[in-house]
Order: sequence, then C-alpha cells, then structure tokens
Amino acid sequence: MEAVSPADEGPSKDQVTTAELYQIQPYYRRFNQKYNVTRQRLWNPDLIQLAKDRDETLERLLQEERPGYGALDWAFYRGSEGNRANTGFVVNVPNARGNSWQPLSNASPKHRWHGDPATASRILRKIARLFSASQVGFASLDRRWVYSHYWDEETNQDYPVKFSDEPGYEQFDRPCRAEDRSLVIPKEMRYVVVIVYEMDEEGIARAPTAIQMATVSATYSRICFTTVMVAEFIRGLGYNAVPSANCTALSIPLAVEAGLGQLGRNAKLINPTYGPRCRISKVITDLPLETGRPRDFGVTEFCNACKKCARMCPAQAIPYGERSFESANECNNGGVLQWMTDHKKCAAYMAKVGTNCGICIRACPFNKGHHKIHDVTRFFIKHAPWVDPLIVRLDDAMGFGRYKPPADFWDEKTPHQK
Ligand code: SF4
Ligand code: SF4
Repeated sequence: MEAVSPADEGPSKDQVTTAELYQIQPYYRRFNQKYNVTRQRLWNPDLIQLAKDRDETLERLLQEERPGYGALDWAFYRGSEGNRANTGFVVNVPNARGNSWQPLSNASPKHRWHGDPATASRILRKIARLFSASQVGFASLDRRWVYSHYWDEETNQDYPVKFSDEPGYEQFDRPCRAEDRSLVIPKEMRYVVVIVYEMDEEGIARAPTAIQMATVSATYSRICFTTVMVAEFIRGLGYNAVPSANCTALSIPLAVEAGLGQLGRNAKLINPTYGPRCRISKVITDLPLETGRPRDFGVTEFCNACKKCARMCPAQAIPYGERSFESANECNNGGVLQWMTDHKKCAAYMAKVGTNCGICIRACPFNKGHHKIHDVTRFFIKHAPWVDPLIVRLDDAMGFGRYKPPADFWDEKTPHQK
C-alpha cells in the first residue's frame, strides 16, 4: 500500500500556485454545507425520497442475492462499518462523538513540544503513516475552503463556522461550539494536515455493488481511527486539533494545496499514485507546519482529451465540455473554475443501484495499481500532453475501467497477499 507521497519528494518543476490551478472569481463565497448533496438528504424532500429509494433498492437486491449483493458481499459491508459504528465517528458531522473538537483524554501534556515547522511535518507524516495513512501532505489553511455554515443534525438547521478574529468570537482560544451553536476555530489554527487513503483496486473494480460500497466504507473506517489518532497526537504535543473527514471544510482543494493531487472532470481528487481511487481526511491545527505546494502533473489537459468518466456515467451527470465557473445546481459552489457534476442526477442513479455507485472512479485511466507500464503512462501524461488522446484510446482498447464480475472478488488475493 505504501508509496512515496508527491508532497514528500521536495521541490519539483511541476509545482504551481493555487491561483494557477483554481481560477477563483471575486464573487466566490464559502460554501454552505447545507447544500452538499449528503446534507440535502436530511432536509430536501426530493433528496430524502431518493435516500429512501436507495435503501429500499439495496434491501431488494440483497433479498434477491443479485451478483455483488450476496451474503459475503453484505457481510463485507457490515464488517466495514464496524469501526465507525463502534466509535460514533460520522464523516459529515463536525465536532460530534468520535471526531470531537475537544481532547479525548484528560491527561494534559506535561510540556508543550517545541520544534521547527519542518520537524513537525516530518514527525506528523511518520505518525500518520504509523496510524495507516497512505500519503500525507501539509497546507496553510485557506479559509475559502472552510464551510461558511455546517449542518447541525440535532436541530436540523445550519449554523455559521466562525474564526476567533471575527467580531463577537474573540474570546475563543480553543476550537468549540459557542452558545449560539456557531462552531469557532481559533485564528491561530492556520495549518492543515491532509491525509490520503488508498481504496482497494479490486473492490472499486466491482462498482456499483455492495462490494464497492464496502470498499469505500472500509476506507472511511480507516479514516475514522487515523484522523482521530493524529488529532489526539497533536493535542498530546500541547496544540489544538480539529479532526475532519467530509465535514468542516472542502477536502479536495486542501489536498490540492498540499500537493497531493489535482481536481479531475469526475469532481474527485486525482492523486498522482492512486488517481481518484482514494479518500481524504484532514486535521486543522495551530502547530506550525512546513507546507507543500500544489502540483500540475497534466490532469486538466488529460481530462480535456479523455471524458471517459462522462461517457461511462449512467446518469450523464458529468459534463463533457470545458471547465466552467457556473454551478450545475445549488449542490456545487460556483465561482471556481471546475467541471461541475450534477449531484442530483448522481443521487438519482444511486437510488437505482442501492449503493454509492463509483463508476467514475472505476473508469478513470489514472486509477491504476503500481505497475511499471502505468508509471511510463503517467510520465507521458505529465510531459507530452499531445499523446493524451492515444493513451485514452489504448486504455479503452485494453479494457481498463471495465466492470469486473463480482463473484471473482472472493477468489482474488488481498493486496497484502499479492
Ligand atoms: S458516482 Fe456514478 S452516477 Fe455519480 S457521477 Fe459517478 S458515475 Fe455518475
Ligand atoms: S476518467 Fe478521464 S476525464 Fe474523467 S477524471 Fe479520469 S482522466 Fe479525467
């Protein structure tokens, strides 16, 4: 599983600025989590209905024991949820149960650790990997990527996410929830540890089935313990830490800032090693860190030529055209140049298959294992973009990204047995 993080390799010619990768319009505003499609399932009647339909479809497919929805596949899913069920870690809810913003132990550090930012980053990279991270990067916290509001499941409404240099919140020197239910991040918390987790290639090759859904869930269970333990490690050093999976801030731009990938047409992080076959978590902190820089390894040019995810998306939710500043609907945040997936069409398809689909991850030519030939392909994508159309044709011709029979999954060796 282990690979060298692009953020570990030191300065490189492909480093660019965030402004070059993301062209942000002056009218851009921080995104309200309320409009994230996963939160709309809690208040928007159409999305609530689609979530119910999805659960019913899954139930029916399991009853019928369709391929990819058999007893083993279901048990895989149930097992993959175990860690999150045990800890109460919820990926979309900030400052709750397992991912509390407060220390999880009463033991306060005897002394605050003092080290230079480069040492702090080196140690955090080591600790995150010891706690099962695949790759680790560091960024300055750009507040534009922090949600303007979070969705509170207790009251079923949204409340602001504030910083302690905003009027009325100056008294907060610890991350917490204020009496008005605003979440407050101390202004000194200007750094973020970004953690990438590889998802199993064979599990994703069975998208969309219960096997693929379990593969994603198993990764989230890993996210749960790694993120919480990294946060608690930072607290043990005497600093503040806000652990987060999909809540509090947008993970992809923070990963881009940290040099861990670029945004693809399929609205996923394209990591240089795993492509979109990965998940992300982050820990916001006031521990000063040596930060990485965004990298351009040819994703935008390749996506312009490829369009494979758009072709293979059964819901036709991924655009074929150029990047745009215009949202598809309220589920995207306009004002940033990107391909805008129609998340409502995507949710409607998920209701038909009873899972979180994942075909646009399976289909992507960047979604390859660690083989020499794929390293050569990545070299050409980065250095010779005129070859991109040929690479796409070859990828199609060789059958990459096709659906693999679910039954074979249980005959495959696990990554650690290979
Ligand atoms: S998850 Fe499936 S439906 Fe949604 S955008 Fe990707 S391929 Fe399309
Ligand atoms: S499938 Fe092709 S167009 Fe879609 S994200 Fe991957 S490389 Fe880009």
